[in-house]
Amino acid sequence: MNKAIVVFSGGQDSTTCLAKAVKEYGCGNVSCITFFYGQRHSREVEVAQGIAKDFGIADHKILQMDWYNQITANALLDPSQPITKTELDACPNTVVDGRNMLFLLLAAIYAKSRGIRDIITGVCETDFSGYPDCRDIFVKSCNVTLNLAMDTTFRIITPLMDLTKEETWALADELGVFEYVAERTLTCYNGIVGKGCGTCPSCKLRQRGLDAYLNRRLKG
Ligand code: ZN
Repeated sequence: MNKAIVVFSGGQDSTTCLAKAVKEYGCGNVSCITFFYGQRHSREVEVAQGIAKDFGIADHKILQMDWYNQITANALLDPSQPITKTELDACPNTVVDGRNMLFLLLAAIYAKSRGIRDIITGVCETDFSGYPDCRDIFVKSCNVTLNLAMDTTFRIITPLMDLTKEETWALADELGVFEYVAERTLTCYNGIVGKGCGTCPSCKLRQRGLDAYLNRRLKG
């Protein structure tokens, strides 16, 4: 049986990816890696630990990256900066330069040490705020680079790449974890589990997708 590692934040997207991975690989073959990088709410890490435990994941690596804000600054890492987002498609000021590239590199290093080749990440280019290192072209390029860097054949898997938030909710429902994801995951920039604060860009995106999915389910 193949083994996989999930880049895991405890949010809606990565929890849906975790549920899918556990279904496909079996929980004994799935590892998680979570990065603590001085994000506004360290609550994220506790939530991630709780969720990984709920899914029966024995191998959950938590990596401290509290040096991140020494090399870059933005609203996610600096609580004194307000989170702003002016237009629907513009990048909010929570974008952290290089974050996904670093995550993938660190996940690959850890994966290789444990004989894991499949790296699963919940990045999505459809409506995830236009972060450049969430795009498919970046992920494919990074996969080639990691293979060359470590002389290994990694497979970066992005189950949500082409899904809208509405479709990600549908996938959670298909996997039987809709309620769990709705109530237990943390996506809110203000650190509130489940429904969240309702006003930050992340909550708005999540709620818009949820409303669209619930509407569809009602009609369907
Ligand atoms: Zn919020």
